[in-house]
Amino acid sequence: MTDFTLSKGADGVAVVTWDVPGRPLNVLTLDSLRELDEAVAEALADEAVKGIVITSGKADFAAGMDLKVLASMKEAGGESPAASVFDGIMQMHHVLRRIERAGMDPKTLKGGKPVAAALPGTALGIGLEIPLACHRIFAAENPKAKIGLPEIQVGIFPGAGGTTRLVRKLGVMAAAPLLLEAKLNDPARAKSMGVIDEVVADPLEAAKAWVLQATEADTVKPWDRKDYKMPGGAPYHPAGFMTFTGASAMINGRTAGAYPAPKALLKAVYEGALVPFDTALRIEARHFTSVLLNPSSSAMIRSLFINKGALEKGANRPEAPDQSVRKLGVIGAGMMGAGIAYVAANAGIEVVLIDADAASAERGKAHAEGILDKGIKRRKVTEEKKAEVLGRITPGADYAQLAGCDLVVEAVFEDPAVKAEVTAKVLAAVGEDCIFATNTSTLPITELAKASDRPGDFIGIHFFSPVDKMMLVEIIKGEATGDRAVAKALDFVRQIRKTPIVVNDARFFYANRCIIPYINEGIRMVAEGIAPALIENAAKQAGMPVGPLQLVDETSIDLGVKIAKATRAALGEAYPDEAVDEVLFAMAERGRLGRKAGAGFYAYDDKGQRIGLWDELERAYPRAAEQPELAEVRDRLLYVQALEAVRAFEAGVLTDIREGDVGAILGWGFAPWSGGPFSWLDILGAGAAVERASALEAAHGARFAVPDLLRDLAEGGGSFYGRWGGGEAAQAA
Ligand code: NAD
Repeated sequence: MTDFTLSKGADGVAVVTWDVPGRPLNVLTLDSLRELDEAVAEALADEAVKGIVITSGKADFAAGMDLKVLASMKEAGGESPAASVFDGIMQMHHVLRRIERAGMDPKTLKGGKPVAAALPGTALGIGLEIPLACHRIFAAENPKAKIGLPEIQVGIFPGAGGTTRLVRKLGVMAAAPLLLEAKLNDPARAKSMGVIDEVVADPLEAAKAWVLQATEADTVKPWDRKDYKMPGGAPYHPAGFMTFTGASAMINGRTAGAYPAPKALLKAVYEGALVPFDTALRIEARHFTSVLLNPSSSAMIRSLFINKGALEKGANRPEAPDQSVRKLGVIGAGMMGAGIAYVAANAGIEVVLIDADAASAERGKAHAEGILDKGIKRRKVTEEKKAEVLGRITPGADYAQLAGCDLVVEAVFEDPAVKAEVTAKVLAAVGEDCIFATNTSTLPITELAKASDRPGDFIGIHFFSPVDKMMLVEIIKGEATGDRAVAKALDFVRQIRKTPIVVNDARFFYANRCIIPYINEGIRMVAEGIAPALIENAAKQAGMPVGPLQLVDETSIDLGVKIAKATRAALGEAYPDEAVDEVLFAMAERGRLGRKAGAGFYAYDDKGQRIGLWDELERAYPRAAEQPELAEVRDRLLYVQALEAVRAFEAGVLTDIREGDVGAILGWGFAPWSGGPFSWLDILGAGAAVERASALEAAHGARFAVPDLLRDLAEGGGSFYGRWGGGEAAQAA
């Protein structure tokens, strides 16, 4: 045994300790599940053992299942992956059920030994499903610990009995947010919700004491008793009926039907609630199998777990010594600069925050204070933490304060002249080892780097707004940018615990290059007389978190106008978006600048809440007699983004499709169920995608023209991940 060890004490308590060698956190594999099974079986068979405690040798209990295991179960099945997956899941059920039954006679419910779980810290996924199979769960008084079932976030659901057990323990109403929204709680809150049973200073000792005094009745789970009633009522009970109707509506409201996992989860819960426990586990396994076999879950796991993790660990980091940032300079204490200062200080980095005058710099620091105050209100931040973070931010207007900074990020006005002046002033104040970064969203890095006498140490670090919430950071290499600058940017992003992608310099880099066509397609459809509600709903049903019209309201219509004018000036005759601009400019002229103006494509109430699409819109752009099918609108909105992503890859702006997919989901919310634009095209198949894009091109124009790269894939019968899934660049292929 390597991951689980069994030790039997003289007091009659057998302790099964989970401690995966060489890893900071415990994760479960199929081999280690077997070890757990054997350890528990040995303890149960030993007459000297009165009770069992399952615990961890690490600071945390477990981070969950090794998700690669799920993929391997599928592959192991060869021709019949479903059977292989189902058998694998049933195997897990048997192991956990053996722990839960603990050697009892299933007929008389007698003869079982008490099994308790002792959780020193975080317990996620299977790391909570195992404790849920135990008879009592003890957790440490550790407010940093997180307890919950996050599976739904990667497109699956708790499939090792967690769904069935939690619903039977708490009832559907209380279990729903934990299962469907992946709500993680600290131990105190998890106890008050009834997920765990005790929060104590020393969970191992408390668990040992409990198993020694537990009665036979304590070893029988409520759902194994004849008189078991589901808390809140089963589906055919009036209260239960209301719950299911509500939950079904809630899921459809939130996901617009785009995600397979929440639907399958609800089916497993509903059908499972009508039958005995062991049958419910089989039902759970069936639905879990169907979710695992759906290409959406593999794509989500690949992008949001495996590849996101690889990028965060520096998959594309050049060889260079550790470049962790010790002292950060931020120039421009506006919305972005203040946000960057906050996230850096929050990660423990000393920050100097400079603006044109001291009062503006102070305002930037006050912004950080505002974020921390919100955290205090939500009990996520303590007063001490707030003081500590704010203590790391030194605001001011004197560039001499930048002495000793090893990274400076500028976030001043989007104006090349202002940026050039700031660059020169910064370089005069810092040492030779300092890397200079710009947070520009539209200006070419190579051009801006001309203001530096060290263009090799000049780089783009593009944050998204709001900085404290958005997890993606786009790192942009100018033509001269050197490896140390890239390593510095990546190490900084790792310090602030965000996810990086590294791209080459080109108009709008990667994220904005794809998101602008999405917004424009939505606006273009307004001009065509397509009902705005159809546009927004088709976007939601495609899995986009925000429709294009809502998105342009959020980012502001005047910004859209500014970008359109700049693009028009750059492209001249070739500019393709006249029809879009007509709508956009007219909105701007009417002062409908979006959410910040309380008026845009949507109408807003006094408090700034969106109340619905602006009803004049259909008068200004009368509804065409013939409205397209929803699928047509949906495809226009998705293809226009995905084809642009392919072009970015083809052109070498993007050098790794993994970054293309992870960046698309985290940067602008590209249909997360699909795993990102490249995964989406792979799910469709290159041949089908070419055919559909060609039809869209014929109907709507050249922006849907099929990129050569996609056509080549279709002709060769290949897929993006089949060819470039290991991070290879298209240009090298
Ligand atoms: P902002 O107007 O809120 O802030 C700019 C700040 O820079 C102001 O506080 C201003 O006083 C200060 N400033 C201007 N000139 C200065 C100088 N010479 N020296 C010192 N300070 C100076 O703008 P913002 O939205 O925070 O954007 C800043 C940068 O970030 C821009 O380059 C923008 O393109 C980029 N960006 C913005 C977003 C966004 O969503 N707003 C997203 C990504 C990137």
